[in-house]
Amino acid sequence: MLKSFQILGCSGGVPTQDRGVSSLIISTADFDIMIDCGEGTYLNWQRQGCKWKHLHYIFITHLHPDHCGGLIPLLFYRKLYGITNPLTLVGPPDLESFVLQGFRLFNTSIKQEIRWINIEETPRGNLKSGIAFQAEEMVHKIPCWGYRISDSEKNIVFVTDTLPNENAVKLAENADVLIHEATFTHDNRVKAREHYHSTQLQAMEIADKAKVQRLILTHFSQRIKDSELNEWQWNGQPCVVFNKRQIL
Ligand SMILES: [Zn+2]
Ligand SMILES: [Zn+2]
Repeated sequence: MLKSFQILGCSGGVPTQDRGVSSLIISTADFDIMIDCGEGTYLNWQRQGCKWKHLHYIFITHLHPDHCGGLIPLLFYRKLYGITNPLTLVGPPDLESFVLQGFRLFNTSIKQEIRWINIEETPRGNLKSGIAFQAEEMVHKIPCWGYRISDSEKNIVFVTDTLPNENAVKLAENADVLIHEATFTHDNRVKAREHYHSTQLQAMEIADKAKVQRLILTHFSQRIKDSELNEWQWNGQPCVVFNKRQIL
């Protein structure tokens, strides 16, 4: 059963003193799913009281450092803590070699039971306890996937980094929660296009088209101030929650 979610980092590209780079925790009744593990995620994850014994799955959207730069350190700390329960890593085709080569170049062993799911080959499937996942490819500078995590009643969709696209609409169709990137404000939409990102209004259009219940925005340029983000609303509801835990 899906219970809650918490954005651990909502900064795009570069972290700031107050905003970490991309990571999201989805908590089910039995375990946690992390999506993205940007640099610095470990401390943000620990600060929120998350526990190794609950972390059973890590999904990675794409291999830009603000989305996976914290993964090898997190796995290294996991090894040092002696955590041995199986962990499943889901992501782009190069994820496995990225992690294994990283450990090799650090000259250290991974010493953990890791199961790998290449999302290009297996774009949908079942996790434990009746939780399912589905992925759709996004439109970014490098291969990138959006994810939908569902139980029998609810679902949550995470879409970052991408230009607005029809696969995002398809993935988010009738979702309870869509978490979508909004790297730029709409007056910077030309820049957003050049960098293969979305603006807040484009994310809102995706939410409209997909008829989602709730839209949450993330992956902000550091130029956008908290005071401005606090004013963003979609369907009469605020759509920026920073790192506050949200009940599903
Ligand atoms: Zn990014
Ligand atoms: Zn990116």
